[in-house]
Amino acid sequence: MADNEVKKGGIGIELDHIFPIIKKWLYSEKEIFIREIVSNSCDAVTKLKRLISLGETKIDGYNGRIEVRLDNHGDTITVIDNGIGMTADELEKYLCQIALSGALDFIEKYEGENSDSASAGIIGHFGLGFYSAFMVSDRVDVITRSYNGSKAVMWSCGEDGEYELTSDFEGSDEYIGQFGTAVVMHINDEGREYLSETKLKDTLDKYCAFMPVPIFFDNIDKDEEKKSEDESEKPLNDIAPLWLKNPSDCSDDEYREFYRKVFKDYKEPLFWIHLKADYPLNFKGILFFPAISSEYESLEGQVKLYYNQVFVADNIKEVIPEYLLMLKGVLDCPELPLNVSRSYLQNSGYVSKISAHITKKVADKLNSMFSGERDEYEKKWRDIKTFVEYGCMRDKKFFDRIKDSVLFEKCSGGFLTLNEYLDSAKEKHENKVYYANDKTIQSKYISLLSSEGIETVLLDRIIDSQFITTVEMNTEGVKFVRVDSEVADALKDTESKDAPPHVEDIFKKLVGEKTKIEFSSFKDRSTPAILSVSEEMRRFDDMMKLYSKDAPGMEIETTLTVNTGSNLISKIGEIYETDPEKAEAMAKQVISLCKLSQRKLTSEELSAFLADSYNILEKY
Ligand code: ADP
Repeated sequence: MADNEVKKGGIGIELDHIFPIIKKWLYSEKEIFIREIVSNSCDAVTKLKRLISLGETKIDGYNGRIEVRLDNHGDTITVIDNGIGMTADELEKYLCQIALSGALDFIEKYEGENSDSASAGIIGHFGLGFYSAFMVSDRVDVITRSYNGSKAVMWSCGEDGEYELTSDFEGSDEYIGQFGTAVVMHINDEGREYLSETKLKDTLDKYCAFMPVPIFFDNIDKDEEKKSEDESEKPLNDIAPLWLKNPSDCSDDEYREFYRKVFKDYKEPLFWIHLKADYPLNFKGILFFPAISSEYESLEGQVKLYYNQVFVADNIKEVIPEYLLMLKGVLDCPELPLNVSRSYLQNSGYVSKISAHITKKVADKLNSMFSGERDEYEKKWRDIKTFVEYGCMRDKKFFDRIKDSVLFEKCSGGFLTLNEYLDSAKEKHENKVYYANDKTIQSKYISLLSSEGIETVLLDRIIDSQFITTVEMNTEGVKFVRVDSEVADALKDTESKDAPPHVEDIFKKLVGEKTKIEFSSFKDRSTPAILSVSEEMRRFDDMMKLYSKDAPGMEIETTLTVNTGSNLISKIGEIYETDPEKAEAMAKQVISLCKLSQRKLTSEELSAFLADSYNILEKY
């Protein structure tokens, strides 16, 4: 092209409609223009650095840098770099031809797929990232000068795709030095919000916080004095994020500081895992375990995905196993085939290998804490329990790896593993785990068992009921039994006593049709009877209620076991001989008290029970 020539052009005929389509496509995520334009600048700096290191060009003391310049008066946002720059021919080729043919391919391939955050995250890798500037601009100027010494070029393109190229541009000094590129975005109505310094800085922070070239911010409308000294001297970003360092070179304080800064969480993370997978997976990252002490707290974590230090998106389910999304962390995957659709990601062998690798590392960390620092591990257990249980339910492989480090809390205090529980209970009740889900309501049952030396574990969170089903399914023979669902064999007398005379008849008559009745003598003489609720039916009922609040709630089988060895029951039998009415009143009270302790009295039964009780007191 001859010097000083102004060339006009249009973005080819078949591309006529491309701008509106790009705009529509990217509309929901228009802020990514920041990422695209700034990361192009990063690339330009990196390319120049490489040329220098290869000896292709010589620039003494080269320091790559990027400046983001906000001009509220002129309504422009300008991104300037001192990178490789472009000649006029390169500019035409890269920005007018290649990029747009890439865009065409993209649109042909993916038109019809939903534009959601991940596909917008992926869009930048099609070679049309530059055009995302048109989501917020009605005109974009590119002022550029190649490192090879050619003249500065100015390219100005409207949103209709009509452009003007000036091949010997005189006014480049205002933007760039001897080489580099400035992209001036003339912000349109849709982009107005980015003219706010806060909004612009926040967006830069979101996408560019860890880009590898220092980014400086300048608001040219601000008085020089008003600008804090830091502002122009300190870059907005951290060019060497912690995840790139060697784990052995990172201090605990650095991890905590990083966590606080990136996740704005004032609570300290419980612990973290520094991931470093070599070839062929080749990804790096840090996963933090946040303290989740209540199951009602939001379990939503935040796993940020980066592509060579460029933020792509949060919580991409296709890449990170769902249960890991409860954690907080950063993953940098330069190998990730981001330029493909979500369904590809879901079925990609690479992605499932990343998942498997992370799962293994998480399990390794937990296992090593369990075996190496059990006290500390127990202290943290309540906080990580929900995560571990959820992970076990979602991923059989995770369960298999972690199962020996899963703890159960004893009602009497302290923790043990399933194996420890089963080992210690072998003699009394093989393969059976007694649990309570409410220490207060079930205290009678718990203390009956503990008087026989049987430990009860506490499983009082909603997730627990599903978790034990997972354990049962994956552990041959093991059964979890709620303390109130049966009378443990260990509680029963070895030689069963027959019921005292009349007792069976009295109780059978009074118990009502809906309750099964059994007679058995317990070692414990002070408990006259126990009401138990079938484990299977109750679990089924709980599950129905979980799926639908309006589930009718089925009739759950209950069994009244009368302790034929109990003093009170013997007495009822004796009294019956002389005063049958009194004996029946006593038996009725026993049944009501059993139901009461299980919260099983209907409102009519409760009223009758109160009336009977007052009656008895009157006779005192
Ligand atoms: P991609 O960056 O994915 O290749 P873009 O549409 O963002 O796609 O950019 C197209 C090309 O334009 C780039 O590959 C690069 O060659 C050139 N380019 C864009 N921005 C710059 C810049 N700031 N400095 C030098 N070259 C650039």
